[in-house]
Amino acid sequence: MSVVIVGGGPAGSAAALTLLDVQIPVTIVEQKRFPRFRPGETLHPGIEPLLAKLGVAHQLESAGYLRHLGVWAGWGGAMQFVPYGTDTNGPWQGYQAIGADFDQRLLDSACSRGAQILAAKVSGVSFNASNEVAGVMTSDGPVEATYVIDCSGSAHVLARQLRLPIARFSPRLVARLGYATGCLGDPSPSIRSDREGWTWIAEVAPNRFQWTRVTEAHNRPGPTWIPHGLRDLDAEPSRSADVTWRMAKAVAGPGYFLAGDAAAVLDPSSSHGVLRAIMSGMMAAHLVVQQLCGEADAQMCALTYQNWLSSWVHHDIKQMSRAYRAVHLFGFAT
Ligand SMILES: Cc1cc2nc3c(=O)[nH]c(=O)nc-3n(C[C@H](O)[C@H](O)[C@H](O)COP(=O)(O)OP(=O)(O)OC[C@H]3O[C@@H](n4cnc5c(N)ncnc54)[C@H](O)[C@@H]3O)c2cc1C
Repeated sequence: MSVVIVGGGPAGSAAALTLLDVQIPVTIVEQKRFPRFRPGETLHPGIEPLLAKLGVAHQLESAGYLRHLGVWAGWGGAMQFVPYGTDTNGPWQGYQAIGADFDQRLLDSACSRGAQILAAKVSGVSFNASNEVAGVMTSDGPVEATYVIDCSGSAHVLARQLRLPIARFSPRLVARLGYATGCLGDPSPSIRSDREGWTWIAEVAPNRFQWTRVTEAHNRPGPTWIPHGLRDLDAEPSRSADVTWRMAKAVAGPGYFLAGDAAAVLDPSSSHGVLRAIMSGMMAAHLVVQQLCGEADAQMCALTYQNWLSSWVHHDIKQMSRAYRAVHLFGFAT
């Protein structure tokens, strides 16, 4: 028995670490050489217990990422500090990770525990006699597997190959993102809405800032745009990404699971993307283990996963629509 994981981002590494924990052989097929470009990611404090469960908590501690107690938000009014929360151990703190570095650390951990990395591009899917997904076609040849977990992010490789419908829940939203270096007087991380969208700025390393601007596609800023407060800083070329809210209609089926952005994408305002990628990678892998051990049947696992992921995504959609409605953004009706 073996599992093929498409993509070595946070979802893929989390799935691999979960499977390797119970000695199930894993091949991760990753098309890009790491470290690859990523936005600097703000990690919700909820990530800490997950990384501890995966046995990689030390990766976060040793990385020395900047910590923060909450976010400054100017959501239709004056800037206000919104703390993450607190418990008996004190206030919760998020991490301001360098996305590329964080992903590389997770993938390195999976490799050091025995994951095989195949540097190749997945271009197709293979099936067994029962018409279950039983492997992938890659630029390096076919790879057979008992299960395929698609963690290919917004490429949605398996959904495209299997022609799974992807439901959309927002107008077409585009994120433009970039980095700038220099001194900034304003507090960070911060999010500020305006009439056309919102802008996020976070310090990812001393005097290095990552910014993200999300608008509807027809209002997207040009490639040279940079947030007003960063105009005096040294800017790097920016990039864009489709962050339209979407979810594959069948996130699990015969021989496959979709995890992370491959299953569902929301715009980054909730800062849950990496958290959801890691949790869904772990959950998909856990359900694969249950099936391989004969503790649950495939249909039950697919249904459990579908319900679990849908309820999380729809909970976030509800909260985000409410926030956008309050500031009349993106056509969410009052
Ligand atoms: C501008 C922006 C800002 C964001 N900010 C935050 C934030 O602050 N906090 C947060 O939590 N989330 C944030 N997110 C969301 C977060 O980045 C994603 O949710 C998260 O990276 C998803 O992880 P993943 O493992 O599912 O996919 P990815 O990290 O995208 O990994 C997918 C991998 O699959 C590989 N792949 C794709 N196709 C193939 C193929 N055919 N063959 C082989 N390999 C393939 C890719 O090369 C890639 O390495 C942001 C997103 C954007 C766009």
